Amino acid sequence: MAIRLIQLRARLQVLEEEFNLSREILIQLYKEVLGESPPKGMLPFSEDWYSTWQPNIHSSLFMGYYQIFSKYTELSPLELLIKSYEMYLEEVSRHCNYDKNHPFFSITRAWMMLKMMKYNHPMLRMTRCNECQGNFVTRADDSLGFHKNFVCGLCNMPARAGKTKVQQ
Ligand SMILES: [Zn+2]
Repeated sequence: MAIRLIQLRARLQVLEEEFNLSREILIQLYKEVLGESPPKGMLPFSEDWYSTWQPNIHSSLFMGYYQIFSKYTELSPLELLIKSYEMYLEEVSRHCNYDKNHPFFSITRAWMMLKMMKYNHPMLRMTRCNECQGNFVTRADDSLGFHKNFVCGLCNMPARAGKTKVQQ
């Protein structure tokens, strides 16, 4: 599973947290699988990212698969992540010029998002759109009361949606 995660370009921090293997062994494995050193630096950690228009569509698509597999299979949490992410990649590569080596929505982002949903005080959750009835990633905090009347980014598309380059 570690090899599959590396092939899907999960960051080293994901592997360190998920497997009881030393950093040295994981770096070695990374080099053997991809022929390069793992990227350095902090993990992308901002719940705001998932609420912006394009990231929201991608992360909600991933969560659609994740919820189906969680409900109808006996997969382990890591298998669920991998399987759902593979389905997500397959779907987007069918629609756009998608570079699988530099995916817009990375498996590390997917992994982070799932963690943010499972905290004792979750930062993100799924909310049903009042128009299309689809489930979308939203902030967990509902102090502004928007969950009840939530309308997704596809039903209420901003004028410039998809035309500007979103920071990855
Ligand atoms: Zn909608």
